[in-house]
Amino acid sequence: MRYAVVSDVHSNIDALDAVFDSIRDDDALLCLGDIVGYGPNPNECVEKIRARATATVLGNHDVAAIDNFGLAYFNPAAREAMKWTQSVLTPENLAWLDGLGYEFRMPDFLLVHGAPVNFFEYILDKAAAARAFAATDAPLIFIGHTHIAEVYSLNPDGTIEHAHLQQGGEIPLRESVRYLINVGSVGQPRDLNPRASFGVYDSAARTVTIHRVDYPIARVQAKIVSAHLPDALARRLLVGR
Ligand code: ZN
Repeated sequence: MRYAVVSDVHSNIDALDAVFDSIRDDDALLCLGDIVGYGPNPNECVEKIRARATATVLGNHDVAAIDNFGLAYFNPAAREAMKWTQSVLTPENLAWLDGLGYEFRMPDFLLVHGAPVNFFEYILDKAAAARAFAATDAPLIFIGHTHIAEVYSLNPDGTIEHAHLQQGGEIPLRESVRYLINVGSVGQPRDLNPRASFGVYDSAARTVTIHRVDYPIARVQAKIVSAHLPDALARRLLVGR
């Protein structure tokens, strides 16, 4: 079985289309949330994910769109974009988001937006990764949220290894080792590589591969400007931060 794993699409339909163009028709699609927020095409992104995904979990921006959750803690640009998102999302798309859960578990993997149990925690170091491994028995945990593609692995002796994946790359899954894999962000990468990021989990080959693909950034920037969303949200796409 092959699964394409996407996260943090953030209303960037051009980046999502580029990702869909580079996955196979028979790949199952798993989505780790934050479909909306920041970008200019929330409805298009929700509709594409609705139509294609096998499983989707909620991100904090999705919950904010539904009921203002956490909005007080958003930075001004994020808050302004969320108010705009709420004003354009259709009732059908909002209702679909509202029906999503916070986690999705299969025998071999777990999907959450930020971290197991504490769903919107930011995993930024080995200590946070250790807490995440302790909070679940899933052998493979897929996360997004920080918009940084990276992997933490927990060895049988309790040691944790870490690697960045901002240029993509293949992770061979070793026996008796557990993995916490951040697939990066489709629509707003923040690891200084502006190309859209996603993962492919091949359960037969026992690999997870992070891919980075180009998309027409200037087109998205123009849409952000014409929707009167904050300029900073357009600028950051080009630098990937
Ligand atoms: Zn996000």
